[in-house]
Amino acid sequence: MQAEPVLVAGLIEVCRATIAENADHLCALDRVIGDGDHGTNMRRGCEAVSAEGESLSSLPFPDAVEKIGLMLVMNVGGAAGPLYGTLLMEIGRELRKNEEKADFSPVLKQAIDAVARRGRSHAGDKTLLDVLYPVHEALAKQSPLSDVARKAERSADRTAAMKAMRGRAAFLGERSIGHVDPGASSCALLTTAICRYLGEHRPQ
Ligand SMILES: [Mg+2]
Repeated sequence: MQAEPVLVAGLIEVCRATIAENADHLCALDRVIGDGDHGTNMRRGCEAVSAEGESLSSLPFPDAVEKIGLMLVMNVGGAAGPLYGTLLMEIGRELRKNEEKADFSPVLKQAIDAVARRGRSHAGDKTLLDVLYPVHEALAKQSPLSDVARKAERSADRTAAMKAMRGRAAFLGERSIGHVDPGASSCALLTTAICRYLGEHRPQ
């Protein structure tokens, strides 16, 4: 795959901007069922990645994605750092194996499964997996990007009905029901931002 510096720089910027705009909202969600720092953690990670935007953009696409994953592990902290980091590191590694421009959906599936193993969690546990799996399904069906984004948002909303099984929220048990999971929410926000950007700029 060719290095696509503009694509990488653009994706980094839309993700940074989306998290910056929604950091307070993500912290508010996390205050209800966690420790209130999800927005702050994600913003710190995105700013760290953004600060390296120029050097990341000069890397081949899979290497850039893998390195961003590593930076998220080091800078986001909490549960989200290792989970988002694993997702991106695995996507980068899988993309590197597929030098030809391959279908992205099996690449994403491998990476989501790695996140599930890393977090020892499953669909329905009220985590970002409850957004990632539906996003994968939509991509596998070759849904338009606008539908992928809508599915991500609806899936995040649906975590409100779930009882948390992992992380700090799990200590609340039944009391976690009725509240959207912050990780699922950030994941839907990022998915929407990425889908919108790719819809406008995807290289043909
Ligand atoms: Mg937290």
